[in-house]
Amino acid sequence: MTSPTRVLVLNSGSSSVKYQLLDMRERTRLASGLVERIGERTSRLKHTVPATGASRERGGPIADHGAALKAVAEELARDGLGLDSPELAAIGHRVVHGGMFFTEPTVIDDEVLTEIERLIPVAPLHNPANLTGIRTARALRPDLPQVAVFDTAFHTTMPEAAARYAIDPRIADRYRIRRYGFHGTSHAYVARETARLLGRDPADVNVIVLHLGNGASASAVRGGRCVDTSMGLTPLEGLVMGTRSGDLDPAVIFHLRRVGGMSTDEIDTLLNKRSGLFGLCGDNDMREIRRRIDAGDAEAALAFDIYIHRLRKYIGAYCAVLGRVDAVVFTAGVGENAAVVREAALADLETLGLAVDPVRNAAPGDGGRLISPDSARVAVAVVPTDEELEIATQTYALAGK
Ligand code: ADP
Repeated sequence: MTSPTRVLVLNSGSSSVKYQLLDMRERTRLASGLVERIGERTSRLKHTVPATGASRERGGPIADHGAALKAVAEELARDGLGLDSPELAAIGHRVVHGGMFFTEPTVIDDEVLTEIERLIPVAPLHNPANLTGIRTARALRPDLPQVAVFDTAFHTTMPEAAARYAIDPRIADRYRIRRYGFHGTSHAYVARETARLLGRDPADVNVIVLHLGNGASASAVRGGRCVDTSMGLTPLEGLVMGTRSGDLDPAVIFHLRRVGGMSTDEIDTLLNKRSGLFGLCGDNDMREIRRRIDAGDAEAALAFDIYIHRLRKYIGAYCAVLGRVDAVVFTAGVGENAAVVREAALADLETLGLAVDPVRNAAPGDGGRLISPDSARVAVAVVPTDEELEIATQTYALAGK
């Protein structure tokens, strides 16, 4: 019998599960989908078979992650791709917070689960949901290797100077306060793909990666290793995002407590869910913001300017962190699609060797592509991210046979 080549990737959120089934020999996507609003009466499962473009939906209540995964298994089985298939080599789980402990993808056992659980205080929103997904999948296929791939792992190479906050180290250590960074799977994949696009060895290339989705983060990658990133203890630090504020003076929080009378939870919600582009102008979709700007909307224009200003500050900072920059790369929903953001982010930076060719930047394209002029000292690229493929690749490398 030939060895199994399929990997199921699960990304379990608090009320959703995203999944993809990939064949690692062919590097093809066999199925993908999403279960939303788990625990509500209006749960919904959307299942797609990329090869045919066929998709199915089912509604009705899905009580918990166990029920969600069972529903996913049923949908996969209808396409002859059931979880009981001997073709399935492993299940790869996205785990948001791996702390300092997990520097690499890890085969899950009871000890690993305990450690992920110990990290809940620094990732209260994400790790519990990830754990539920893992436990449910293990119950379904206890015989199968399950691998945790951590969002933080790629950033564990950051030097202490970048990872530490300037606070009393005894307090920092007691509460595990440091800059962990997130989106690491995407940053790692995109940095490597950028080197490939340039026809160079990743070990020789210095890259600034700009992951601009609804969540957004920047990283400075020297020779394939992360040396700085914009997110910190949590994904709140750094760039202006869809609904998160990114950087602000920490005293804003004291001020909101003392003068505004807000509770800690209210401030948490304000900064994580009601700030960023959404907080500034009521929209967090860049397409809608551009449409409003084109119609003369001043509020949307200011939100866009604040977003770009912060982004340019990080680009400048990471030029200084890296010293020599070979490429700046844009990825994720905004980075891959919004030419106007790429243009504004790098406008008038020729002194740093950075320039965008307007025709290349505006040209539509699906794959990785260069958008800098041939004469530019630093390559500027657009590289679509593929976190699921990266999770599957890492899972298969560790657990496939
Ligand atoms: P997530 O962080 O949820 O994974 P994505 O990487 O999918 O987010 O990015 C989603 C965001 O990408 C949307 O909120 C929207 O602002 C932006 N986006 C998607 N498509 C386009 C487009 N064609 N033009 C501009 N922005 C886009």
